[in-house]
Amino acid sequence: MAYKYVFGPVLSGRLGRSLGLDLLGGRICSMDCVYCEVGATRDLTLFRKPYVPASDILGELAAWKDEGLAPPDMITLGGLGEPSLNSEMPAVIAGARELFPDTDVAVLTNSTLMTDPSVRTELALADVILPSLDSLVKTEFDAVNRPCAGVDPMDVAHGLMAFRQGFKGKIFLEILLVEGVNDTDANLAKLTEFCKRLTPDRVDVVTTTRPGTVRGTRPVDGAILSRWRMQLERGKEKNCPTATSNLEALSLERVTALVGASLVRRPQTVPQLAGALNVDQTMVRQAVEALVKMGDVVSREDRGETFFHGTGHVLEG
Ligand code: SF4
Repeated sequence: MAYKYVFGPVLSGRLGRSLGLDLLGGRICSMDCVYCEVGATRDLTLFRKPYVPASDILGELAAWKDEGLAPPDMITLGGLGEPSLNSEMPAVIAGARELFPDTDVAVLTNSTLMTDPSVRTELALADVILPSLDSLVKTEFDAVNRPCAGVDPMDVAHGLMAFRQGFKGKIFLEILLVEGVNDTDANLAKLTEFCKRLTPDRVDVVTTTRPGTVRGTRPVDGAILSRWRMQLERGKEKNCPTATSNLEALSLERVTALVGASLVRRPQTVPQLAGALNVDQTMVRQAVEALVKMGDVVSREDRGETFFHGTGHVLEG
């Protein structure tokens, strides 16, 4: 079947083979980050509602399970926007756990709704939370994340601290640096202090590596990245196990469908796709070529690598 809301698995350094669930079905987010991999935000909002009913998402997840592929290391709520905007997120977490009782559930969040106690209670149902917080300097936060009016990074930080108090699972914080925007000493000092108080299980400092919304958004150089990492990073030894190979299990037709659904959400190279799906690069290349011919996928050169991304046809199909 063609999936609208289930995508992957994609290979994640923090989560292993992660099967993604898209809770929005479109570019709906409380931020419009300059580095966003899934394109410009269409609906910039803090309004919560069932953008996609939990039953639709769980119906697809049940169908994916019935295909009998190797189970993922993690089921991750994320996708085309901020998952906590979907007010049926708790039902999705509960349903995913029922279908895959041995697999942990993670939520990728931009942390903006952490200011709301009821959202914190809902997020606490997951096993792992992956919040991002790129700057505690308001002007930098506004420039890199371009949030909804009224979102303040210090309020977000306080929300995260309140969440930490009652949460029994793991918190993997991510900080993404953009050259000349949030790579300042002032931000490093504030985030260092914040991390000492939050005590996340893991901190990753990254920089933009894939094509983002705003062309010309540049990564910081290696020296700056190393300095930030030495000061902030922790917990990276806790990597997830790798899964068994899907090489035998997947036909070219299935690989093409999985690659198409994955590329709608995240631009990737052929080697990245092959690693995530645990299939041979030749097969992935054939699938990508077929999708390019059909007009579902286009390529883009970025820093010497060829990235492929979906044109959106897969979502509409
Ligand atoms: S990177 Fe995440 S938070 Fe930022 S616009 Fe994209 S989906 Fe929203």
